[in-house]
Amino acid sequence: MPGINDIFGSCVFDDVVMQQRLPEETYKALKRTTEQGRSLDPAIADVVANAMKDWALEMGATHYTHWFQPMTGVTAEKHDAFITHKKKDGKVLLEFSGKELVRGETDASSFPSGGLRATFEARGYTAWDPSSYAFIKDGTLCIPTAYCSYGGQALDKKTPLLRSMQALNKQALRIVRLFGHADVVRVFPTVGAEQEYFLVDKKVYCQRPDLMVTGRTLFGAKPPKGQELDDHFFGVIKPRVQAFMKDLNIELWKLGILAKTEHNEAAPAQHEMAPIFTTVNIAADHNQLTMDLMKKVADKHGMVCLLHEKPFGGVNGSGKHNNYALATDTGMNLLNPGDTPSENAQFLIFLSAVIAAVDEYQDLLRVTVAHAGNDHRLGAAEAPPAIMSIFLGDELNAIIESIVSASKYEGHEPSQMRLGVHILPKFPKDSTDRNRTSPFAFTGNKFEFRSLGSSQSISGPNVVLNTAIADVLEKMADELEKATDFTAAVDQLIRRTLSAHMRIIFNGNGYDDAWKEEAARRGLSNLPTTVDALPHYVDEKNVALFERQKVYTRQEVESRCEIKLENYVKVIDIEALSMIDMARRMILPAAIRYQRDVAQEMQLKSAVLPGLACEAETALLDSLTQQTNALYHATAALEKALADMDPAASSLTKAEYTRDVVIAAMAKVRAAGDALEGLTGKDYWPMPTYQDLLTSV
Ligand code: ADP
Ligand code: MG
Repeated sequence: MPGINDIFGSCVFDDVVMQQRLPEETYKALKRTTEQGRSLDPAIADVVANAMKDWALEMGATHYTHWFQPMTGVTAEKHDAFITHKKKDGKVLLEFSGKELVRGETDASSFPSGGLRATFEARGYTAWDPSSYAFIKDGTLCIPTAYCSYGGQALDKKTPLLRSMQALNKQALRIVRLFGHADVVRVFPTVGAEQEYFLVDKKVYCQRPDLMVTGRTLFGAKPPKGQELDDHFFGVIKPRVQAFMKDLNIELWKLGILAKTEHNEAAPAQHEMAPIFTTVNIAADHNQLTMDLMKKVADKHGMVCLLHEKPFGGVNGSGKHNNYALATDTGMNLLNPGDTPSENAQFLIFLSAVIAAVDEYQDLLRVTVAHAGNDHRLGAAEAPPAIMSIFLGDELNAIIESIVSASKYEGHEPSQMRLGVHILPKFPKDSTDRNRTSPFAFTGNKFEFRSLGSSQSISGPNVVLNTAIADVLEKMADELEKATDFTAAVDQLIRRTLSAHMRIIFNGNGYDDAWKEEAARRGLSNLPTTVDALPHYVDEKNVALFERQKVYTRQEVESRCEIKLENYVKVIDIEALSMIDMARRMILPAAIRYQRDVAQEMQLKSAVLPGLACEAETALLDSLTQQTNALYHATAALEKALADMDPAASSLTKAEYTRDVVIAAMAKVRAAGDALEGLTGKDYWPMPTYQDLLTSV
C-alpha cells in the first residue's frame, strides 16, 4: 500500500511539481506573480500551460476545466478536451495554451447574477487564481478560477475573497512595519474550516422524497432515543463510517487537502472532519472540494452525505466552524500573544482591531451566515445565537478589562500598565475554556467563528472579516504612522479601541434568554431570521465599507442581497411544494388505508359478537380522523398560502411573506403529519422514520 507521502498532493500541480517541470526562470516568475498578487505575463502562461497539460496527460486526464464558485453556493465546471482539429502523423494534436489557462469564456446566463448581468451580455469570463494550485479530479485538469462579467463585476465567491485579502494585506503590512518587521512581504488570513455532516444509508434515503429534493426531512416524529444520552459525541466510530472516512482522507490527501481530525458529533449519524489550516482562499477551495468529495465517497459506500444545516428536526444540526488567524510570510501568527513587550503590543493591536471590526460590522457578519437552512440552527440553543458577540475567556478578558480600566493586572506591575513596555502573561491555549454558545470565540491564537452553516461557502464571513479588519487597521495605521512617541500612541490606541468596543465582549451563556435582553441593552443587533438580516447587506455604512476597501461596488452588494433573498424564497417554496406532495400522495393515503382496516376490523368483530365495545378501535379512529382532517386542511391552507404570494412583489416582500405566512403554514402541515405517524400502524407508514434514518448506517 502506498504511504501518505506517495498519496499526499499526488493529484496537484503544486510547488514541487512546478519546480520539477518548469524552466527555472518561468518558475521564479510564476512564484513572484502569486506571492505579490500580480498578473501573469502571457509568455510565462504558455510555458506553464504546456507543462500542466503534459503532467495532466501523464496522470490520465483527457479534459481541462476552469473550476469556479458561482453564487449558487456549489462549484461549476465546463469540461473541454485537450484535442484540437489539427493532426500530425494521423493523430490528433493535444493542446492547451496560456490563453486557455489564464482566461476562459462561459455562458453566464444560467447562473444567478442578481441583475448584474443583462441578458444581452450573457457571457462571463473565468480567470486563473494562480495562488491556488491546479489539480486533477475525475480525469479532468481543474484550474481554480475567479468568475466575472465582461464589465468586470464579480459573479462568484472567489473574486471578493481575493480582493478582501488584498485590502487586508495592504493595511496589516503597514502595522507590522511600524512594529519593525521590515522583512515581512505579505500578511494573509489563515483558516481551518471544521466540516460537520450526517451519513445515512442510500436505500433508506431513497425512500424519503423530502431528503432527496430538499436535503432535509419535512416530516418525522421524534424518535424515542435521540441524542439525550450524549453517547454519540466522540463515540466509537462504526466500521462502515470508518471505511468511508479512510477513503475520504485518501481522496482529500490526493488533492493536497490536509484532512486531519475526524470524529463523531453530538447527534446520532453526525460526524466532523477538520483539516489543518491554510491560506483563506485555498481553504475556501479546499472546503468546496471536501463537500464535493464527501458526497462522492459516501455514494461509493452506499451512503448519502447530508450537508444541510438541519436534516432532522429535534436533532442537532450541522455547522462549519471557521477558525481564523492572521499570518505573515515570515511565519508569525499575529493573533498569537508573544514573548516580548513589543510582540504583546502588536498582538493587542490586532486583537483590538478584530474586536472593533466585529463590533462595527456585527450585522454584516450575521448577513454572511443568513440563509434558509441556517435559520433552523442559529438561536435554537444548539448553535450560537443570531446575536454576534465575542468570547475571550477569563484570562484574556481580565487583561482587557484591566487595560480598559487602567488598573493593575493581577500579579503584574502596579498602576497603569504601559502596553508597549510590560510583558503580558502567556495565555496557555487550554486556559481559553470552551464556550460553545459563543458565535466568535478566541481560542488561544485564533478566533473561531461558529455561526456558519454546514452547506455554506466559507467565503462570505471571511470576506467580511478581512474587509472590516482592513478598514480598522487602516485608521490605526494612519494614526500610528503620525505618532511621535510610538509606544505611548500604541498604548493609547489599544485602550481607546477596546474601551469603545467592550459591548461586543460576552463571556456568559449565549443560549440564555437573559442574554437577549442584555444584548438589547448594550445596543447589539439581534437579527433572528435570514429575512431580518439580509436588508442590512445594503445599509449605507456597509456599502461604504466595501467600496472604501474596493471589495464590492454598490451594484455588486445590491445584486448579492437580491440573490440571497430570491434564494430564500425559492428554497422554502420547493420545501412547501414537496410537503404538499408528500402529504397528499403518501401520508393521507396511508392514514386512510389504516383507518379503513381498523373500521373493517370493528365491523367484523361486532358481526361475531354483537354489542361488543371496541374501545381502542373507536378511540383510535377518532384520533386518526381528527389528524387526517387536520392534515387535509393544513395542506390546502399551505397550497393557498403559496398561491396568494404576489408574484409582482419585491424580493424582500416575498421573503417576508414566506417567513411569516408560508413557514407558519408548513408548521401546521408538519404537526398533523407527525401526529399521524404516531397513530398509524408501522406497516402502513409509507416512509422510513427518524429511527430508521438515524440508525441506517
Ligand atoms: P480546537 O481544539 O480549538 O478546535 P484545533 O487545534 O483542533 O483547535 O484546531 C481546530 C481548527 O483550527 C483546525 O482546523 C486547525 O487547523 C485550525 N487552526 C489552528 N490554528 C490556526 C490558525 N493559526 N489559523 C487558522 N486556523 C487554525
Ligand atoms: Mg473547534
